[in-house]
Amino acid sequence: MALIVHKYGGTSMGSTERIRNVAKRVAKWARAGHQMIVVPSAMSGETNRLLALAKELSPTPATPDLERELDMIAATGEQVSVGLLAIALQAEGVGSVSYAGWQVPIRTDFAYTKARIESIDDAKVRADLTAGRVVIITGFQGVDAQGNITTLGRGGSDTSAVAVAAAMRAAECLIYTDVDGVYTTDPRIVPEARRLHTVSFEEMLEMASLGSKVLQIRSVEFAGKYRVPLRVLSSFTPWDIDVDEEARSGTLITFEEDPTMEQAVVSGIAFNRDEAKISLLGVPDKPGVAFQILGPVAEANIDVDVIIQNMSHEGKTDFSFTVHRNDYAKTVELLKARVLPTTGAAELVGDTKICKVSIVGIGMRSHVGIASKMFRTLSEEGINIQMITTSEIKTSVVIDEKYMELAVRALHKAFELEQGLV
Ligand code: ADP
Ligand code: ASP
Ligand code: MG
Repeated sequence: MALIVHKYGGTSMGSTERIRNVAKRVAKWARAGHQMIVVPSAMSGETNRLLALAKELSPTPATPDLERELDMIAATGEQVSVGLLAIALQAEGVGSVSYAGWQVPIRTDFAYTKARIESIDDAKVRADLTAGRVVIITGFQGVDAQGNITTLGRGGSDTSAVAVAAAMRAAECLIYTDVDGVYTTDPRIVPEARRLHTVSFEEMLEMASLGSKVLQIRSVEFAGKYRVPLRVLSSFTPWDIDVDEEARSGTLITFEEDPTMEQAVVSGIAFNRDEAKISLLGVPDKPGVAFQILGPVAEANIDVDVIIQNMSHEGKTDFSFTVHRNDYAKTVELLKARVLPTTGAAELVGDTKICKVSIVGIGMRSHVGIASKMFRTLSEEGINIQMITTSEIKTSVVIDEKYMELAVRALHKAFELEQGLV
């Protein structure tokens, strides 16, 4: 008998019929003798619907006061899910109880819409488990020190589940979703993408941070910090398949490198359309200029991702960087007000139609020529690279958004990631 955490995403919870299926699956695990905690997301589309209602009333960028209310609204989606799942489990004859984040409580910091979990009280949950109940806890939401409801950022139910698994020292956290594991790239973009039986924690961390939304990055960080055994698997298999078979399916995130295993040089391709590029042209090239530009951006709490400074020409240079698209308007405003006048830059240009495509693989550490193969592949497709950034196990390029799918498919092929090749 083990303590197991299941997380079900929005599509898996998308209708009462699907919720009934989730209940049957969870009941099967409980009857196999496991202590069960379930962390569901809101029904698919629900969080978007709720946030759109708020936007109808206030279309301007959110202020901290407004963000508090956004969390209040968005968190209700998960509250409906836990209640429905508890009812469905009871209908299956399984004792269950649902809790909102504040009832556990799952304590977070004060950062509305992107709060971080600070602690989870395990007392109530343990008492329920001991009494033989399945415990159902809202994903995505928590409570700050003043009792305000907070949410953990989009896709945050993954993080709730892993954090609960860490706090409860669960034997495993199973993330049930609408694909049957982690693939070499998003199978919606490349149908030939191959499911990975295992993926190393480091690679998963890179893939999540570079846009593979199959796991929220913070959930992977949590799993790494607390060594939570983590598996991604499908909620669309028949609910009555054998528990042990189900427990071995999907993709396992591994923490130890297996020295006997032949590592693929590139394991996966990630992409994201969430960034926008801003360039300052004709900036006087002198010490301190990067700080003059990016200092005010950092002060405004805006994350900068890729940065590039061109060669200087007659004492002038061009300086470009990317930010999240949600921060684009705010950044441009800020640069116009505080940076353009002081740096003497000639012009500011922005581009919101970019994307970032990345190749990821532990094997890149020990192989040369991988980045150049990436660049050659893109050039053969006539795709212009606007920016490049690398780390030990990834290379990312910023390109025109309209070439994203072409680039991902071409790279997937060039690095031989298709089904059956490895
Ligand atoms: P959930 O609602 O269950 O949390 P998400 O939509 O957040 O599900 O994440 C699952 C989706 O992630 C898949 O449907 C798939 O399109 C996408 N995805 C992106 N990259 C990958 C990848 N490398 N492997 C598997 N799925 C991926
Ligand atoms: N319901 C939230 C969202 O749509 C959290 C989640 O699904 O993980 O972002
Ligand atoms: Mg998700």
